[in-house]
Amino acid sequence: MDDSMEYLREECEKCYRCDLGKTRRNLVFGDGNEHARVMFVGEGPGEQEDLQGLPFVGPAGKLLDDMLEMIDLDRTKVYIANIVKCRPPRNRDPLYQEQDRCMDYLERQIALIDPAIIVCLGRIAAMNLIRDNFRITREHGMWYQIRGRSCTAIYHPSALLRDVSKRPETFEDLRGIRQQIRAICPEVYADVD
Ligand code: SF4
Repeated sequence: MDDSMEYLREECEKCYRCDLGKTRRNLVFGDGNEHARVMFVGEGPGEQEDLQGLPFVGPAGKLLDDMLEMIDLDRTKVYIANIVKCRPPRNRDPLYQEQDRCMDYLERQIALIDPAIIVCLGRIAAMNLIRDNFRITREHGMWYQIRGRSCTAIYHPSALLRDVSKRPETFEDLRGIRQQIRAICPEVYADVD
């Protein structure tokens, strides 16, 4: 049977491949435009996301929305997902085993959406999608070709809430993302040009 987002979502909703499935209140599958040319990937749901079943809806989500708006994007133009689809207890980092078990779902989601650009939000997403020894402090804002897609990483919005000194670098990185979108999928900005 051909894969589809509906089929994939149903499969994830029944998933207990890792222990995070036992404590989730809601699966956080993803949100946004399923035909998006640009995809953002964080590391995992927090408390608000777990309660609402949607990614990036707490304070970090509000900041992400502001960051998208700065470069003339919003959730209708992008797709947002995470490395793990269930909340790690007490907002700890997802364990390697949890990331590994959930990555297959994300890979299928990426294949179905087929974005030209993937923006990793934070170190954990970048280590899974760009390179396992990715150093976010040194390599944020740089571009990599990974399996035919342009990929970059920026600081996770939660890190920007904790440490405002990282924001100027992130504004630069966002400008770089806008340039890359204009270069390889300018149709994203058809309504603002
Ligand atoms: S985090 Fe992923 S692998 Fe673990 S139970 Fe949830 S959907 Fe399944």
